[in-house]
Amino acid sequence: MITAIIFMDDWSFVHELLSTCRALGLDNLLIFSPEELVDVEKASTYGASEIISYRSPPIPPCVSRLLIQVVSERRPRLVVGLARKNVREIFGRAAQRLAASCANNCTDIEIVGDAVRIRRPVLGGGYVAVQELAGSPVFVTLRPDAFKLLPNNSAKKPVITSIDMTLKGWEIRIIDRRLSEKSRVDLSVAERVVGVGRGFRKKEDLELAEELAELICAEVGCSRPISSDLKWLPEDRHIGLSGKWIRPKLYIAIGISGQIQHVVGVKNAKTILAINNDPNSPIHREADYSVIADLYEFLPVLIRRLREEMGKERR
Ligand SMILES: Cc1cc2nc3c(=O)[nH]c(=O)nc-3n(C[C@H](O)[C@H](O)[C@H](O)COP(=O)(O)OP(=O)(O)OC[C@H]3O[C@@H](n4cnc5c(N)ncnc54)[C@H](O)[C@@H]3O)c2cc1C
Repeated sequence: MITAIIFMDDWSFVHELLSTCRALGLDNLLIFSPEELVDVEKASTYGASEIISYRSPPIPPCVSRLLIQVVSERRPRLVVGLARKNVREIFGRAAQRLAASCANNCTDIEIVGDAVRIRRPVLGGGYVAVQELAGSPVFVTLRPDAFKLLPNNSAKKPVITSIDMTLKGWEIRIIDRRLSEKSRVDLSVAERVVGVGRGFRKKEDLELAEELAELICAEVGCSRPISSDLKWLPEDRHIGLSGKWIRPKLYIAIGISGQIQHVVGVKNAKTILAINNDPNSPIHREADYSVIADLYEFLPVLIRRLREEMGKERR
């Protein structure tokens, strides 16, 4: 039996991660998850052999300490998780302590002989590095592109094991807990996304995009400057290399130039519509449909026409 440990602090991708491990030929699949998230039914449907549930403050140094303990006992071939900020930190810490290889943000994974071969974007997303990770275990965080989906054909009953972390004797003290500003929207699973960029002159103008999004039942995302620099939207709305990778049926990019760091995050969208007044903007090369127009002139007309059409349908 070849073991994989799957770090699951977001169960919405449980099928994708378990299925990817099975496709790689790994057959003893252990889920490592915070106790409060454990979903035994899902785990058994998708072929997990065991769930190791843990109780710990959600702080990377603490979680990585638990992960090191589990990896040392179970000796997996692969430790895998979603390419998210906290997972990257937990894996990086654990791999460093165990002198193991670690690769983040991978868009492909395969096992070739004794090595795990991965692909990942480098140099701001302009190039793809192909790397072979030697030794065992290896730690890998995956982007949705890397998922290998197999039909679900399992009905295993996973064994459940619990482990605990206390902060006794630690240099870390929790002095306060505050919720970060989160939008409660998961762009990575949205079917339609309206993306806003620096073509909008002020925050209030985003209402135009929000109105359009509401009409077509879409979520609003943005380019990095809109969330990170201007703070007009929460951080979890930014799309691209350092943000969310999305795969909607429709992506409407409004006032976004289409730099490579943004575009890597939307290349799995089925249809891209770009609205940008500069015909030379790179976004037009990525788009299936381009509207070369001032967003301030075009959006009100589009919204009005959509309302008229919807009104007709209702009548
Ligand atoms: C390491 C690194 C990581 C990065 N990660 C990301 C990332 O994950 N996501 C991301 O988005 N960026 C990322 N960036 C930043 C990225 O390089 C670009 O700077 C950013 O995407 C540009 O945002 P923008 O398109 O909104 O703005 P701009 O590049 O300023 O483009 C604005 C666009 O709006 C158009 N426009 C202006 N006025 C109007 C109007 N009235 N009507 C219609 N169109 C108009 C312009 O023609 C222009 O094309 C990263 C950069 C680095 C170095």
